Amino acid sequence: MSNPLLELEGLPPFSRIAPEHVEPAVDYLVSGNRSEVERLLDEVSEPDWYNFIEPLEELEDRLSRAWSPVSHLHAVMDSEPLREAYNACLPKLSDYGTEMGQNERLFRAYARVAEQAEGLPQPQRKLLENALRDFRLSGVDLPAEKKTRFREIASNLSELTARFEENLLDATNAWQKRITDETLLAGLPPSALDLARQTAEQRGETGWLFTLEFPSYYPVVTYADNRDLRREFYEAYSTRASDQGPDAGRFDNSEVMEAILALRHELAQLLGYRNYAERSLATKMARTPEEVTGFLRDLARRARPQAERELQELRDYAREHHGVETLEAWDIPYYSEKLRQHRYSISQEELKPWFPETRVIPGMFEVIGRLFGVIIRQSDEQVDVWHPDVRFYEVRTGSGELLGQFYFDLYARQKKRGGAWMADCISRMKTRNREQNPVAFMTCNFTPPVGDKPALLTHDEVQTLFHEFGHGLHHMLTQVDWPSISGISGVAWDAVELPSQLMENWCWEREALDLFSGHYETGEPLPQALFERMLAARNFQSAMQMLRQVEFALFDFRIHLEYDPERGGRIYEILQEVRDEVAVVKPPEWNRFAHGFSHIFGGGYAAGYYSYKWAEVLSADAFSLFEENGVLDPETGMLFRQNILEKGGSADAMELFVAFRGREPSIEPLLRHTGIDQ
Ligand SMILES: [Zn+2]
Repeated sequence: MSNPLLELEGLPPFSRIAPEHVEPAVDYLVSGNRSEVERLLDEVSEPDWYNFIEPLEELEDRLSRAWSPVSHLHAVMDSEPLREAYNACLPKLSDYGTEMGQNERLFRAYARVAEQAEGLPQPQRKLLENALRDFRLSGVDLPAEKKTRFREIASNLSELTARFEENLLDATNAWQKRITDETLLAGLPPSALDLARQTAEQRGETGWLFTLEFPSYYPVVTYADNRDLRREFYEAYSTRASDQGPDAGRFDNSEVMEAILALRHELAQLLGYRNYAERSLATKMARTPEEVTGFLRDLARRARPQAERELQELRDYAREHHGVETLEAWDIPYYSEKLRQHRYSISQEELKPWFPETRVIPGMFEVIGRLFGVIIRQSDEQVDVWHPDVRFYEVRTGSGELLGQFYFDLYARQKKRGGAWMADCISRMKTRNREQNPVAFMTCNFTPPVGDKPALLTHDEVQTLFHEFGHGLHHMLTQVDWPSISGISGVAWDAVELPSQLMENWCWEREALDLFSGHYETGEPLPQALFERMLAARNFQSAMQMLRQVEFALFDFRIHLEYDPERGGRIYEILQEVRDEVAVVKPPEWNRFAHGFSHIFGGGYAAGYYSYKWAEVLSADAFSLFEENGVLDPETGMLFRQNILEKGGSADAMELFVAFRGREPSIEPLLRHTGIDQ
């Protein structure tokens, strides 16, 4: 069979991969894996690490090796036929995954290996532990009756979360506002006006057409001088899919939300947890619900005095400069933006000349090299790539040993998904049968260079680049030999952003910044005065923002933790309690924020929204060790490499953190970095 996706040696042969290869390759591997798993279960009477676990790791790996170039091409070089092939495979892969997760014989075999695992090294025990945990969470060892109910709940939940999203989408699409009187639009930036003009034209209308999609909505509440207009938009947006606002009752999510909470609670109890918050923590670094709520409340308590001062400053500013006596919810983003401009007048455009790609990229590699003792350079190898702009790099130790490689696809172009991200192409594996080093896809969407002027990046883009390289290093510097716990695999998801958020810190350190910035024409360093304004602007209203995130996180966690079938979800009752406890900005009573809270009702963040703040605490605290020892201190860098980057998911995230930091995480550095003085 000549299918380039099935050539599972070396790098993917991108130039030969065509959409018609996708489905046959997936079918072949999925059915091959199914029969191989059955064969192993039939033939291996005494399953152990080598005759059972490693072969299974290899089977899973060949499927992901074949799939990773497909999902990558779908993201960066999409076409109709490729999208069709890709979509046709998604249900096959998800069915296969569910089937493996619920395969009882497979579960028993893992359990038998685990029973005799005392002699195995810690990473191997961790792999078995994770596998057994995931089997149990998929309901595999429940008695027959409960198993049936478990499946019913799981399938109802996926329908309900999809319906939540549909209602929200329909509500978002149902409302729009066409404006023909330009004076109403005073204050809006040209980009927002262009978008609204274009939207109107696309629908064959004149004037400016605004919608509740974020890129259309956000500039209106942030910049429109007309207060009534801001209020109208705010009301429509913050009551979407609810019993309030202009479309009250039309796409109401109230019942869907109640049903979701009830079913999650029942599901958690079937699995032996007291509530869904406990179920959520089964796969996370945080150990108990009390640890999460205590952590959030601690942040809120310490940030609150400053948040009150920030709000007071905003009120004073609005009164003194604009004669506004009472700040309503639809005034806060608007006057905040005015105050920010008034104080710092800094724009991303202004910073761009100091961040040409030609300095940022080699400079970032220099920073990474000094910190972690590695050398990153473009490969001499002729590598088959999907687009002529793509470059291929390798990461080696100081003594030349190859650790990993990556594709670097920098520029925006048609048919390429926006944003920046890291994805794995090949995972590290060293078993009796296979040896492979990790390979990553590093993808960005910078504006391409024009003529001989290099691509110029905003400081935000530079930060994003550092962030994604944190994920990339986690994937490429791993020393763990089995794909399900190497790199970012198997890492608790409230800890997986530690390396990426850590890397962002070097974008704010003068010593590091000088290595990757400099005027693109003169080479002149970033002026100190400009740098100081950047630092000052960085923490504008940071305590208010902190409280807002804590409010969302505590609300999410409490509705899952305190659910009581007798009393129902009490969604707005709990939200009100949380606001009374932590918020300084009080939205109007008719605000229905929760009806549009997709992260927790539509997506996978249920009882997990706290993870954002949790990971920030970890990364700020990790960086504080660099501050103590020197921001480019190679020994601290090596400590991070050996205890975090190399270890991947092979040990408990808290143990790894403690091994690096010498103690459990502290929230002080995050408060200090965000300029919150307590
Ligand atoms: Zn990230």
